[in-house]
Amino acid sequence: MHETAVAQSIIETILVEADKIGKKPIWARISCGQFNALNDEAMQFALDVASQDTPCKGIVLEIRHIPLRASCKRCQNEFEFDIYSGTCPACGSSEFDFVPDAPLLLEEIEFEDEDT
Ligand SMILES: [Zn+2]
Repeated sequence: MHETAVAQSIIETILVEADKIGKKPIWARISCGQFNALNDEAMQFALDVASQDTPCKGIVLEIRHIPLRASCKRCQNEFEFDIYSGTCPACGSSEFDFVPDAPLLLEEIEFEDEDT
């Protein structure tokens, strides 16, 4: 399962950061593109499993899905690709190149505030 491998690598990265500052991570946000899209529920589940017995246990994950973009070969318009229309919204051409898909990225980690 794709999500399991991703969750493990995310937890490893978060643990390194958590270790540096010595606080418990409680929330994280990742972003991903459309070709390697993650299922939100499967991802949270995989994360729960991967974070068992680590300081990340109980962490909440937010996934930002970044739409796929395409660039029109005829009018150079760059647009959000819609699989249901499949044409350039500016000129109606169906010839375009895909802009490289957004990589899977760990954007932000929030740590427990010791004062509260
Ligand atoms: Zn166009």
